[in-house]
Amino acid sequence: MKNKLTCNFSSISENEGLARMIAASFIAQYDPTLGELSDIKTVVSEAVTNAIIHGYNEEGFHEVCMRLSIDNRILTIEIEDQGKGINEVDQAMQPLYTSRPDMERSGMGFTIMEHFMDKVEVHSSQSRGTVVKMVK
Ligand code: ATP
Ligand code: MG
Repeated sequence: MKNKLTCNFSSISENEGLARMIAASFIAQYDPTLGELSDIKTVVSEAVTNAIIHGYNEEGFHEVCMRLSIDNRILTIEIEDQGKGINEVDQAMQPLYTSRPDMERSGMGFTIMEHFMDKVEVHSSQSRGTVVKMVK
């Protein structure tokens, strides 16, 4: 059984909650546990927040794309921005690493994504943007 859903939305913080609800609704039809639903909402929230605050520096009028797909109960989530990109992906993915300690970020977003998902891949290039691909 294959199914997919793609949506593009403005990079404003209000849309973070919307993306989380869309992802939850999308997987709800596959009888997830409450724990699975909560995990998916958390990782979408982390990745979308990163796109908005880091990728686009909270400028607000750019676009974030979320792609969801399910194939034989394997869920793939991609969150893409065309923002500033990540210089050193390995460093960015270290627990507690944040480029914005001034904003009181804790540097745990990628660690949380890796904890809740089976696989997290980050493809990024400077000034072109970032794609975070997560599989469970
Ligand atoms: P937290 O998620 O705990 O609030 P954080 O966002 O800084 O803090 P991570 O989500 O782990 O921590 O991200 C680590 C770093 O990777 C960020 O500080 C930022 O420098 C970089 N980063 C993450 N996502 C993006 C993105 N989409 N575009 C550009 N840089 C990013
Ligand atoms: Mg983060």
